[in-house]
Amino acid sequence: MLHYEIKLDPNTGEEWIETGLRGKALLTTFLLNKGTAFSYEERCSLGLLGKLPMKIETLEEQVRRAYRQYQKYKTNIQRNIYLNSLHDKSETLFYKLLSDHLEEMLPMVYTPAVGQAVKQFSHEFRQARGLYIAYPDADKIDIILNNRTNPDIEVIVVTDGERVLGLGDQGVGGMDIPIAKLMLYTACAGINPYKTLPIMLDVGTNNPRLLRDPLYLGWRHGRIKGPEYDAFIDRFVQTVKKQLPGVLLQWEDFGRDNARRLLEKYRYTLCSFNDDMQGTAVVTLSAILTGVRRSGIGLTEQRIVIFGAGTAGVGIADQLVFAMEREGLTRQEAKKRLWLVDKEGLLNSQMTLVDFQRPYVRDDMSACENLLAVVRNVKPSLLIGCSSVRGAFTEEIIKIMANSTKYPIILPLSNPNEQSEAHPNDLLAWTNGQALIATGSPFQEVVYQGKKMQVAQSNNALCFPGLGLGVVVSRAKWISDNMLWAAVQALTQYTLLHAKGDEEHRLLPSLKNAREVAKHVAFQVAEAAREEGLAQFLPIETYQTLIEKVMWEPYYRPIRPKEG
Ligand code: NAD
Repeated sequence: MLHYEIKLDPNTGEEWIETGLRGKALLTTFLLNKGTAFSYEERCSLGLLGKLPMKIETLEEQVRRAYRQYQKYKTNIQRNIYLNSLHDKSETLFYKLLSDHLEEMLPMVYTPAVGQAVKQFSHEFRQARGLYIAYPDADKIDIILNNRTNPDIEVIVVTDGERVLGLGDQGVGGMDIPIAKLMLYTACAGINPYKTLPIMLDVGTNNPRLLRDPLYLGWRHGRIKGPEYDAFIDRFVQTVKKQLPGVLLQWEDFGRDNARRLLEKYRYTLCSFNDDMQGTAVVTLSAILTGVRRSGIGLTEQRIVIFGAGTAGVGIADQLVFAMEREGLTRQEAKKRLWLVDKEGLLNSQMTLVDFQRPYVRDDMSACENLLAVVRNVKPSLLIGCSSVRGAFTEEIIKIMANSTKYPIILPLSNPNEQSEAHPNDLLAWTNGQALIATGSPFQEVVYQGKKMQVAQSNNALCFPGLGLGVVVSRAKWISDNMLWAAVQALTQYTLLHAKGDEEHRLLPSLKNAREVAKHVAFQVAEAAREEGLAQFLPIETYQTLIEKVMWEPYYRPIRPKEG
């Protein structure tokens, strides 16, 4: 049962909260807790008098203290734990702190620190958040979803933890990713945190380390597969549709074989998208389009090698084909510009492939059993890494590119940093500073010939929050290819417009501008939904005005007692 209600005065626009909670219960409800910022009147009327030190602080004072506490922690995992604990104590204080230090703290709540947090989930567990739907409770999904704290949900991020970042099967620990992604929805796009819901579908794990670990918190069982798995997912989707018909659902970190299948099956049933495929593709394509502008070689003239033909790699290939079709190539011609390489080398029809890889087989080239051989043959102008193979872009490979292309575009996208296909310092050194780079994980400032540079991070946080906000304000029926294309265009325009001076070489905007980027993306996505007839809400004002109006800001709303 919900213990509070958000009220809005239609004349003044003032928001306040009414609650039946009193005393300690208020201090332990993270959505309501203000700690030392409860006013004297609130303390008197809500049973808090004497439960807090006397000084009444402002949110800004609290943020200053929290930042000092944060700075005392030196490792990423400690900082991640500190921020999550704060998130569990006071939602508003957490978001104010995060928003004030977004660029600095984003890597602590999301990649790369979240990777370590996921691995240590069962050992570092302190507080539950969101919903856990374990396979043995398959017949109780309706009850579990009904147990959510807030009835009105706008965005769900759901995972089954099978393929987390580049870390593989992390079982129940995968829950940290939906929690982190929803933090970004709020911090970057102002999605109301009261209206977000992380969900873990615990279908077991095949990770022997977790199965052996006595502290493991998930269902200690091998992963459910085949028809049982499909029936479980279907039951989940149908329940979401029934209880939350207008919700946006983001599929997160599903295994390679399920991710695409599930998206294709449910894309038009439920307004949903897969960030690993579509979010990645939007951000990467935008980085590529900016790189293409800077390199002077048109997109349809690029020779593109993608290393790692999994969810992200093929998702990017699909978007590239789509973009080249828009530039006038036929699908066949577009596919000819692409060479996809996986464990056994260049994809060809003799290999055992999954369905989504098949459109990209190349039987027109022999002796391409590894990346080096493919690069020697193709001489790519654009190289993308989605393999999680550390150091796969060797000096020899990069120098072949640099010898045949003046400004090679190189995107080592694998996460976390330890899995990156190359370090940007090396890429610059091996190409005499000419490489146009975006990485998957954040790297420290790089220095080339004494000049400091910030390398763009192909971070999905530049896409999914804005995409989600666009969907929420337009109440789009589903997310079409044109809406995704609008997101690509919005992001590219933003980069080109704002990349000046030191930022000139950047392929994507800095994350410190994530909120502005999200607004820009949201507006164009909502407009695209309207143009296609997918928008179910057409505001009297423009989407731009509406976006400004609905974005949630971290400040303390007055809390009043609910009588009775
Ligand atoms: P995935 O498991 O679906 O795909 C990985 C692919 O790499 C598989 O097809 C696998 O067979 C292949 N591979 C593994 N070892 C290889 C080798 N030695 N040689 C060639 N291919 C090999 O995973 P995914 O979702 O596609 O993610 C891949 C990587 O991309 C991860 O590290 C992930 O964190 C990263 N990623 C980055 C972004 C981003 O930067 N925005 C977004 C999504 C994914």
